[in-house]
Amino acid sequence: MSFKPLRFLRDALAPAQPEPAADAITPPVFDLPGSDWRPEPAARVRAPSATLFARRAARLRALAEGHALADFLGFAAAVADQQQRLLDSDDPQCALGGLRANFNAIVAALRPRFTPAIAAAVAALEARDDVSLGLLGANLAGGRLPEAGAGFAALPLLGAALQVGATRAALLNAALVELPEHEVLACPVCGGAPVASVLRRGESGHGERHAVCGVCASEWHVGRIRCLACGDNAGISYLAAVPADGATEGAGFKRPAVELECCDACHAATKIVSLERDPAVEPVADDLATLPLDWLAAEDGWLRYGFNLFFLAPEAEVIEGDDDFAEEDGRA
Ligand SMILES: [Zn+2]
Ligand SMILES: [Zn+2]
Repeated sequence: MSFKPLRFLRDALAPAQPEPAADAITPPVFDLPGSDWRPEPAARVRAPSATLFARRAARLRALAEGHALADFLGFAAAVADQQQRLLDSDDPQCALGGLRANFNAIVAALRPRFTPAIAAAVAALEARDDVSLGLLGANLAGGRLPEAGAGFAALPLLGAALQVGATRAALLNAALVELPEHEVLACPVCGGAPVASVLRRGESGHGERHAVCGVCASEWHVGRIRCLACGDNAGISYLAAVPADGATEGAGFKRPAVELECCDACHAATKIVSLERDPAVEPVADDLATLPLDWLAAEDGWLRYGFNLFFLAPEAEVIEGDDDFAEEDGRA
């Protein structure tokens, strides 16, 4: 399948914008006390589903068919299968969310599919002691990536283990979390960054949008049109991809279920998926399957913001002289 980008709203709402600066994304802040938007009490925090990973695996397999990234999506599906098995497990080590226990279990199941490069990266992570692996995991959960190098290619597997523990905790805790009376930009359950946002019909019958945590998959209510990276709601536009032979307007046009929400204020671009347009969409899986859209958007200066542990790019800036971030954590 080839893609062509589809621009709507953006062209209709705004004249041509100046080229965004390459380093313009502002760091995420936890909340926006100045925002006048208020979450609906009934829609504040949604716990992840207990069958989250099984649903993700099924969606990844469906999306992989005929896809240019089929091998990658198929591998991610196999990882999600193992995540569901661990989430369902009553093995006490895994049930406690033990990072190494879950990592080892995922690695053991996936090892026959490893390329030599992945196997070498996994070996580099396996060689770490528990403290070092735990620090790496804690930083990964906070979106702080080490520089590219030994072990980097295996970080999605460590991220998968993190997700199991965080999702297990969220299944217990999310219902207890009170969302503040103002907009938040990080997961109120675990502090993770959003992978995407999801649109659905709420209990009230109105459309609701929730940001989806890239770590624990809890969802928190956010404004319908608002940047997940900086909270701005003025210069929001959308990009989508349609098959090269698809209609882009008129009677034959069906608005895609997955779009890229682009913010003029900070130049972040984040996926927004609509369950109303396609009940099968799954934020993490659909984000991976639409990575070509991010790559096209990057050519226009839009910067990928969604935090997907299956697709990690090395930071341009690394924390100097330290591959465990121990200095930053004050635990060197
Ligand atoms: Zn979370
Ligand atoms: Zn923004």
